[in-house]
Amino acid sequence: MNHLKTRREALSLLGVAGLAAWNASCSTSAPAAAVSCDPPSGGGPSKRVAIIGGGVAGVCTAWLLDGAYAVTLFESEAQLGGNVETVPFTVRGQQVLVDIGAQYFHPGLYPNYARLLDLLAIRDPQDAAKSDLYPAPSTITIFDPAEANPRFVSPVLPDRVWPLSADWNGDGVAAFAKLPDAAKALDAAGDWLTPLDSWLQTIGMNDNQRNNLLVPWAGSLFSGDIEQSRGLSALGTAVFVARTVGANPTDAIYYQTLKHGLGQVPTKLVSQCTTLTVQTSTPVQAISRACGTQWQVQTAAGAQGPFDAVILALPAYAAAKLVAGIDELAAQKTALETVEWYDSHLAIHTDPTYAPADPANVSFLNCRIQGGTCEASMNLSISVAPPPDGQPTGLWKSWTTLRNVQPANILHTVQYKHYLPTPKSYGGNAALAKLQGQAQVWFAGGWTKPFDTQETALLSALDVAKGLAATASVHSAAFAAAT
Ligand SMILES: Cc1cc2nc3c(=O)[nH]c(=O)nc-3n(C[C@H](O)[C@H](O)[C@H](O)COP(=O)(O)OP(=O)(O)OC[C@H]3O[C@@H](n4cnc5c(N)ncnc54)[C@H](O)[C@@H]3O)c2cc1C
Repeated sequence: MNHLKTRREALSLLGVAGLAAWNASCSTSAPAAAVSCDPPSGGGPSKRVAIIGGGVAGVCTAWLLDGAYAVTLFESEAQLGGNVETVPFTVRGQQVLVDIGAQYFHPGLYPNYARLLDLLAIRDPQDAAKSDLYPAPSTITIFDPAEANPRFVSPVLPDRVWPLSADWNGDGVAAFAKLPDAAKALDAAGDWLTPLDSWLQTIGMNDNQRNNLLVPWAGSLFSGDIEQSRGLSALGTAVFVARTVGANPTDAIYYQTLKHGLGQVPTKLVSQCTTLTVQTSTPVQAISRACGTQWQVQTAAGAQGPFDAVILALPAYAAAKLVAGIDELAAQKTALETVEWYDSHLAIHTDPTYAPADPANVSFLNCRIQGGTCEASMNLSISVAPPPDGQPTGLWKSWTTLRNVQPANILHTVQYKHYLPTPKSYGGNAALAKLQGQAQVWFAGGWTKPFDTQETALLSALDVAKGLAATASVHSAAFAAAT
């Protein structure tokens, strides 16, 4: 699979970029031939947990439990990070680091993640110069290349004022001006279940604003299927506006990227751990009971354990496979299977084919409508730190799942499955939340919350650490103190 191949290539290239750090700091132990029910010998924590899945949720959980538990983290890929993958590209002979999966955050929507970055000395809120942050101005263009004008180009005051007066832009400017207050009200009400299309009708959007602008735009944030986006949770979509637009709606919204990529976060977390064992390239095939009330974990090399608790830090569909056939986890399986996902294919390329032809209309996020689809192409000249020559990267990151023509000059492709924030998914999440910790089995992942981000992956880890009473561990305490 291209994804796996390129991840391995990236790993070898990225030796410099820090992924080696966790290999050095955390041992990779040979799996036990058979599970012994004897209590652990030697010093260290007496309780043992297995975390299955080394994405951000799994790594954050390991970091929070460190010291309180002897943790074994199983990851099927060759490196940790899951959807967080920082890959080096060569631009004009210089290295540019690009997050090919998760890439952006905003302190308003990610308060806990931002705090974690502070603790890891990646962000310094008092001194921008000491931070690894790079600002990504969230400008938007929505367009159908078959039409004479774009449907919407966002103004950026004071640099791009003209969109305010363009005739064709009136409905779009009014729609995006009205959206933040309505989104904030929905967020304040905590209403995650109203579908997007019906909510837009209640907040005074006309048919053009709803059908031709906001619904396609929402589609570009998720699967790209415009009809499907009508049924998404309104707040699951609008939360990205509600918590990022400031008091003055004419101020530009800046998300952030990290100059050295989000991949440094799991690397740094693991390097701080002292009672963690990491096993990469180790897919877990099954879990089963062992030694009475404990669990063992089955990998290709044999059974490992016993563990006092198991944390499935996996996408819901992958967790469902591991609990399948275990009678006492039947309700968990049903809940996990209710959560919806979609396929995302992405390309990093240098061909501006998915952007509007007129450079004046190009934004950071270019949402291109094609029939019933609307997929995004991100202008990485705007949102990624330039190479040492200071010139724009010339790179694009595009969703290509539904496009009928692929871009030229593709440098890298990757595929993910991504959480779909629908009322149905939330039903699965709500059912699962009530089952957390039962039979000493826990679930972590960004998707366990109403929107799937680095923030919610961390929140899910905090929940599990609290459930396992690890709030006094060194890292949990440090995180709480920083709160
Ligand atoms: C294309 C894309 C763009 C995104 N952009 C952003 C963004 O800009 N900002 C943001 O905050 N979020 C973004 N997200 C969401 C973000 O990626 C997630 O919220 C978060 O990274 C999920 O972390 P996780 O640990 O819950 O899951 P994952 O990252 O999916 O980690 C799960 C891990 O489990 C491993 N695994 C699976 N099965 C097994 C098994 N049987 N045994 C062992 N290991 C296994 C996987 O290999 C993986 O490493 C994006 C997601 C996608 C797909």
